[in-house]
Amino acid sequence: MFESSPLIADRDGFDDLVVIPSLGEQLGLFESSELESGLNQDGRWFNLDSVDPNTYDRVIVCMSGGKDSIACLLYLLELGVDTSRVELWHQCIDGAPGQSDLMDWPFTHAYNLALGRHFGLPVYFSWIDGGFEAEMLKNNSYSRAHYMETPDGLVKLERDVTRAKPGTRMRFPQQSASLSTRWCSSLKIDVARRALNNQPRFNGKKVLFVTGERREESANRSKYFQMERHACDRRDGKLARHVDAWRAVLGWNEQQVWEILQRHNILAPVPYRLGWSRSSCRQCIYNDDNIWATIAVHFPKSLSKISGYEKQFGTTISRERIGVDQRAQRGKALSVNDALALEQASRSDYFLPVAADAANPWFIPPGAFEKAGCGAV
Ligand code: SF4
Repeated sequence: MFESSPLIADRDGFDDLVVIPSLGEQLGLFESSELESGLNQDGRWFNLDSVDPNTYDRVIVCMSGGKDSIACLLYLLELGVDTSRVELWHQCIDGAPGQSDLMDWPFTHAYNLALGRHFGLPVYFSWIDGGFEAEMLKNNSYSRAHYMETPDGLVKLERDVTRAKPGTRMRFPQQSASLSTRWCSSLKIDVARRALNNQPRFNGKKVLFVTGERREESANRSKYFQMERHACDRRDGKLARHVDAWRAVLGWNEQQVWEILQRHNILAPVPYRLGWSRSSCRQCIYNDDNIWATIAVHFPKSLSKISGYEKQFGTTISRERIGVDQRAQRGKALSVNDALALEQASRSDYFLPVAADAANPWFIPPGAFEKAGCGAV
């Protein structure tokens, strides 16, 4: 095992830290007053570190391509999951491949496919048409359709325009706890919800929905239940769709996460190799100045595109009203010494190995146990 590093709060995506908890509160899933360690409360378990995944018909692993969701999958394998029940889900923030390159790492789609190939698992992507960029440019118009990949092919889920009103965004999501202004997170949450609700194959079935949040990451998350009914659960209704949400690595610290990757020889995903401490959107609205400085050095076109929209909208991402250009200038770029990871970071195909081998030994990446990579949460 690698040498211990000081444990600091890992911030593996703002969604994980703030958005999902606040959504849970909005859905009435979490009430801190009810927390009692380890007790089953109304079908909810505060601590449930282990389950028998083979008591479920389907096991859906929400795979961001970051270390915590990979750790969930590896833990399921260690629990002896029957892999014929397992599928990986990923919600594409930039829409279908090729639609937009505004926010994400270009290799994310290909990396998730590579993970699926490595483990022999199907990967189903879902997205809002046009992704983040199209939603941001909504101007007295309706949100676009959702798409979901299924075992039977691609399905388009139209919006019900008889109920919705046209809306205008024309600005970046705001750094806020409210999902109505930090709307980017709901792009992923909504599409996953609709993908669960609109696939008859889950009706009458028992589904385990696995996500990779960890308690040490935030005060909000420390109050999470480890197992509870998913918001899409309809076990008592005529659909008889039983969906349990299980946060498989909720009680783990970051070191345990890296250790399970090492046990299974899974190399650190590229963002950690470049010094990021998280691996969600590269151009995340919560990036700190140093990350914008790093983007300015290595991915200047991406910085220009974000900056161009700030100027077009007359509104900056930052609440300080300082554009990403200026923030990049006042930040200090990360020192990137991994040439292969840097090359991969600009490619939409995935050419690096997923697993370590003799030619590609396992290593702890620079982004591990670091704070760099995202702004205040
Ligand atoms: S920009 Fe991407 S990673 Fe950042 S909060 Fe929005 S959806 Fe999440």
